[in-house]
Amino acid sequence: MSILVNLNNFKEKLKQYEVTLVAVSKTKPNEAILEAYQAGHRIFGENKVQEMTDKAAQLPKDIEWHMIGHLQRNKVKYITDFVSLIHGVDSLKLLKEINKQAKKANRCIDCLLQMHIAEEDSKFGLSKEELLELLQHDEFVQMRNVRIRGLMGMATFTENQDQVRKEFRGLKQTFELTKEHPHVQSESFNILSMGMSGDYEIALQEGSTMVRIGSAIFGKRDYNK
Ligand SMILES: *Cc1c(COP(=O)(O)O)cnc(C)c1O
Repeated sequence: MSILVNLNNFKEKLKQYEVTLVAVSKTKPNEAILEAYQAGHRIFGENKVQEMTDKAAQLPKDIEWHMIGHLQRNKVKYITDFVSLIHGVDSLKLLKEINKQAKKANRCIDCLLQMHIAEEDSKFGLSKEELLELLQHDEFVQMRNVRIRGLMGMATFTENQDQVRKEFRGLKQTFELTKEHPHVQSESFNILSMGMSGDYEIALQEGSTMVRIGSAIFGKRDYNK
């Protein structure tokens, strides 16, 4: 099936929800992105800094680039000029660096805090305690060049749908609670990024407002990233 057909099928499926589709183009060539672009799609997700900066330099300027992968502090500076949303913020240190680089770039950068919701310990993310700690921190309160738009999470990679549902439901609860936190601007705290090709249906049922879809649009990746 073509990218165009996949994309349109997806948009049809998402119609009944108020949800933003991030087309995850990691490992895919510019031509694949352009195919989706020509079909009107503008939001693309990448998980490697080098790959994202290369693609951003070569592709149309009105693409919104989302950094969905784990971001190393020393690489933040390469994306602050153009990144539209950073999904994987999982420490105060990283957020501080984003704030610092965003200030240099004279920008305020939208970020999501990544929560650890899966059973696997390999997955990045904050615990609920760490989230609270971050939100309470003086340094966080003083940041002017980042805006926390919501939360992101990845469920356990498992066939067990109940498990996945439970994890997404927990994340949605944390999302609603965090929205009420005095250090969060509740009007702009409105993004819950959860759901990938294998589990987006459950994520949508559990209140996702942003799904990150790669292989179901672009086909299987040659190597798993
Ligand atoms: C690769 C990736 C996705 C998309 O995965 P698919 O299963 O191909 O849809 C979503 N989120 C993150 C963080 C990823 O790294």
